[in-house]
Amino acid sequence: MRHLTFDPAAFRWAGVEERAYKPPDPSAPRGMDWRDVTRHRLGHPDELGMGFELRYFELGPGGYSSLEKHAHVHLVVAVRGAGRALVGDRVVDLAPLDALYVPALTPHRWANEGADPFGFLCTVDADRDRPVPLDDDEWDALRADPVTAPYAH
Ligand code: MN
Repeated sequence: MRHLTFDPAAFRWAGVEERAYKPPDPSAPRGMDWRDVTRHRLGHPDELGMGFELRYFELGPGGYSSLEKHAHVHLVVAVRGAGRALVGDRVVDLAPLDALYVPALTPHRWANEGADPFGFLCTVDADRDRPVPLDDDEWDALRADPVTAPYAH
């Protein structure tokens, strides 16, 4: 067994290192940039012999993830602070223990517009395709809607 103890004051799990969300990429395609996101691996197939991975992501104030899509799905559970998610043509607010499912090939981006950290747990398949940027039609539709436009940047 493996037991990762949680420190509520630090909001961190003992022995779980903080990793970069993705490798820095100054030439990232449109929308694929990101800001102030850390990744914490709570369970990885290589270590635990399972078919999925469980990560904790945290966005600092003003942070956002890349605007991406992929064939694999996400199931996300917010656990810290307040955040916002663009999923498809919708923008939703996330509070602790809200659960959010992101279907296959659906554009998505997480954002923290508050003053405190926003964190969520996220599962993904062990074997999965790489995220890709939105195509022009998807991008233009997000830009044309005042609700979603702020998240297409
Ligand atoms: Mn994703």
